[in-house]
Amino acid sequence: MENECIVHSGEDALLKDEWNGKSLFIHKVLVGLGEEWDGDKRPDIQEGYEALARLLDGKDYFIVTLNTDGKIFESSLDEKRIVAPCGNDHWFQCEKACTADIWEESEAEEMDGVCPHCGAPLIPNTVRAGKYIEEGYLPQWNAYKQWLSGTLNRKLTVLELGAGFEYPGIIRWPFEKTAYFNNKAKFYRVNKTFFQISEELKDKAEGIQADSVKFIVDSPRLW
Ligand SMILES: [Zn+2]
Repeated sequence: MENECIVHSGEDALLKDEWNGKSLFIHKVLVGLGEEWDGDKRPDIQEGYEALARLLDGKDYFIVTLNTDGKIFESSLDEKRIVAPCGNDHWFQCEKACTADIWEESEAEEMDGVCPHCGAPLIPNTVRAGKYIEEGYLPQWNAYKQWLSGTLNRKLTVLELGAGFEYPGIIRWPFEKTAYFNNKAKFYRVNKTFFQISEELKDKAEGIQADSVKFIVDSPRLW
């Protein structure tokens, strides 16, 4: 990948000083994975996760993903540092939400895909369920909130990778807010389409027009 993908000024800061050196790696890294990381649409997704895992190895990071394919949990990224608030296609809940119980795929199969409490079908535990049982992700969401509170006034790199406007209230808007209020934050928005940076963040943010999975995989300057 060449530098034409860089649309905001400061490409040198991004690629030479920050990413290629030490500064990214000595502080906290908040990562948001959006629609571009949909594992059902991308054969290269594990390659992306492994490249991301190498980038984050040994660092104090937390990942928020909008994706529900669950493939991130098959990667070498630390599941204790990941939250998937939109759910997981491989976990199951009662369609009628008669219980907050959540079952793994193998358990759901053993129960013939039927709720043991009310007999309704079991459906994937995701935001697309009519009555989404949020217990599946809430423990990790609390861990994320706690981690995030520990970033106050600390050096923080925010990597927003391929998050568009499907659920902007989960990554885009709160990440911008986090970067805005942290004077030591640096914000990178990598996105094929929605790479623009708002005026109030322009001093601490870089917008990079690129497919964010390929960007992470291809750039040899990251490690
Ligand atoms: Zn039920």
